[in-house]
Parts: sequence; structure tokens; C-alpha cells
Amino acid sequence: MLLHWHYTLTPLRLFACTVALGLPCLAVAETSSTNAEKNEETRVAVLAEDENVEDVERSQPRRKDTDPTASATNSTQPATDTESSDAKTGAKKVAPNIDLKEVASPHEPELKADSAAPAESEVATTPAEDSEIRPGEETSGMVPMEPAIQPAKSFTLLDTEILPGTSTRLAWSPGIQIAGLSQPTPVLVVNGANAGPTLCLTGAIHGDELNGIEIIRRTMYDLDPEKLSGRVVGIPIVNLPGFQQGSRYLPDRRDLNRHFPGSPDGSLADRIAHSLFENIIRRCNMLVDIHTGSLKRTNLPQLRADMNNPDVATFTQGFDRMAVVHSSGSPGMLRSAAVEAGITTVTLEAGESHRIQEHQIEAGVNSLTSLMERQGMISRMFVWGDPEPVYYDSDWIRAQHGGILFSEVDLGARVSEGEILGYVADPITNAQYPIRSSSNGRIIGMAVDQVVMAGFAAYHIGTEAEVPGE
Ligand SMILES: [Zn+2]
Repeated sequence: MLLHWHYTLTPLRLFACTVALGLPCLAVAETSSTNAEKNEETRVAVLAEDENVEDVERSQPRRKDTDPTASATNSTQPATDTESSDAKTGAKKVAPNIDLKEVASPHEPELKADSAAPAESEVATTPAEDSEIRPGEETSGMVPMEPAIQPAKSFTLLDTEILPGTSTRLAWSPGIQIAGLSQPTPVLVVNGANAGPTLCLTGAIHGDELNGIEIIRRTMYDLDPEKLSGRVVGIPIVNLPGFQQGSRYLPDRRDLNRHFPGSPDGSLADRIAHSLFENIIRRCNMLVDIHTGSLKRTNLPQLRADMNNPDVATFTQGFDRMAVVHSSGSPGMLRSAAVEAGITTVTLEAGESHRIQEHQIEAGVNSLTSLMERQGMISRMFVWGDPEPVYYDSDWIRAQHGGILFSEVDLGARVSEGEILGYVADPITNAQYPIRSSSNGRIIGMAVDQVVMAGFAAYHIGTEAEVPGE
């Protein structure tokens, strides 16, 4: 019910969402004592960035001829399911059916599902033909054309069998901690009663990005396993140590989102990335990696997607009313590694770090619900027409002078070429330097008012691009 209620409010609220704030991930540090000296070289430490300025700027240009329906990608398929072989061994544990809508006891220490009782749900004991949907078939496109509903099979993840029509909580341990202090990372799984694709949702790969955690909670706890076709696997807090310390990074100060697909004998970050990728990500057909911006910039809710990849381009069409910004991604990102492995993946940017932002969260939940509907995984009671993502090509406009930035425009504003977006004021000389828009478009991201150095990316201007495949 809650889910449907959300939907009745969607169109109005999403308009409000577009005005909500978010911040990309650039950190400016170490300004030397007096930055009045204009010619003195200022030191700007650009920490590892997220799906932000650099990644967008360095992207390979979007190809105009992308036709998602035509070209077949030669993507490697994700590791195939091991259901059948698992089923034969019969050695694995069966996950208890946990109603995710029920509040868990705070003393529920055993995240690892080791109960053998498959609860009361019916077991689809008919292992008919393989009803798995593999990527490249129905999953990557938006082909919800009345799929013949087939009963699902059980799903094995983390050595645990999840029966069809059940949901459960599992635990993933990257195996890097001191054994006695091991702290498993919770993984929520809903295995639908009907066959379908596997959608994975990851949040808080950067431990200080909170909106995604709540987006995953709401999305997963609204699902009814009996009505779901396919599976949804959610890891609300991938970087648990970072989350507990309010930090973007891992305990070794590395950015986990630069280490995928990882390696079993590399750095701490490599090992965690490898464990996540091999144990969970490879089991997904589709992945939405949820992030926020970081300090001092604000974003419209938006997807970052490699629009040169036809599967990804088609996938973006299921997200309702999202800005979609082309970005080919950087090496080491979960998104890039997953796409490389044949898993259709986008990054969802929702708001700014360290905050819980209702509008951003609603926009994220509604867009994921739209996606699942488009993929034939759920059916909504109220549908307001086809999803309407908006595609943008984009450019960052940088401050040419150091000083204090004062914006004249708001996030989401439509601007025209040459229009003054804001000023940088030199607090000592009183010089005012206007920053002008380079094109006609829309402000899809911007810095909040702050002290900036020359070169600081201040405004992200999106120009509407063609819808792929049209
Ligand atoms: Zn992030």
C-alpha cells in the first residue's frame, strides 16, 4: 500500500525534487594562510572524486548514432548461475523467510541465515527448464511485453539458498578483519515467486553518503515477494567501517570506488572490492550503484550512464524523470567494472553527503520503482504513463579567479549562453568577476556559495540531448 501511495504523489513531488540539493565529491583543502596574494600559487588538493567533475569531463564523447535496439553488445556475460549444480549438492543452507516489513529485533545477531527451516512459504519444487533470465535477453532492455509468468527457482547467494517467494537478510564478510572482530555487512534479498532478472542495489560505497541507504531500505521493504518477478538484492551500506566513522573512505583512506573489480591479494580496498564483486555483483543482471555528491556542490537527482553502451542506454529509459548525464566512467569504479563484466549498470546520484534528504530519497525510490515496473518485475496500481528520463550533454564551467563565489542562479534553472550565473568577488581588492554560461541549458549541478580558487568547477550546465534510439 505504501508503495502505491508513494506513486500517487509522484508527479507533484518530483517537481519539488528537482530543486532539492545534492553535492558532488570534490574537496578543497589546504589553502595557505593568506589567499589574498593573487599570484601566489594556491594548493588545491583534489581528493578522489566520485561520479563528478573529472569523470564527466574526461568522458569519451557520446556517440550520436547510438541505437540501443540495434547493436548487439559483445559484453561478457556475468558468471552464470549455479542454481542447478547447487541444487544437486543440497549442501547449502536455506535462508529463513524473513518478512522484511517486520522490524528486526536489535538483538538479532545472526545475520547469517543458518536456520534450516524454510518457513511456511511454498517451495517451487519443479525445477523445470531453466527459467533464469540472463543479461542480454529480456533484462537489459525494457521489454516488459507480457512475459509468460513462470515460477521462480531458488536463488543461491553467499552459500545460502533463498526459496522463491521469500525474502531474507544475509551477511557478507569480505574477510579482511581480525577474525574475532569480524563484522558482517548486511545484504537484503527478495526472491520473487516468479522468474525474472536480478536487480542489485548498492549504497554507501562511500560511507558518508546516506541517501542511498534510505532509498534501498524503502525500495526493498515495499516489495512483496509473492508479487515480484525476479530478485532484488540490496546492500544498503557497502562500506560499513566508513559509515560508522562518517567517512567516505575505507579505514586505509582508500576510495573503494576506485578499486573494482578488485583483486584477492592486493590492498585492503582491492580485497574488499574483489569479495563484493565475486560474491554478489557477478550474480546481478542489473545494478544501480547509489551515491551522493560530496562537499560543497549540489546536484539535481541524476543518473550517470555510459550512453555509448546500448544496453545501458536502454536501461536508463526505465528511470522516470531522472536527469541522465553521459559519463563513460573511470577505471576502478564499480559501475565501469560491472559494465565490463556484462552487468547493465548506472550510478544514481542523489543529493549530498552526510545528509538525509527527503526529496532526493523520494526521487530515487520512485525512479527505482519505475525501473522495476519497466523491467516487468512488479506491476504498479497507478501508472502515470511512460517513464520520462531527460538526457543531457554537459559541461562544467570553472571559476577563472579565486575569491568568494556568489551565485545568481538556482539549481535547476534554465540559462542561456552568456548569461551571468554568479560572481567571484575578491575580498581584498573588491574586484568582481562574473561567471557566464557557455551554452543554453539547465543548471544540473553547482557549487554552493563558498571560497573558491581559480579552476574550481562551479556550474554544471546540461544541454538536452536526444533520447537514445529515437
Ligand atoms: Zn559516492
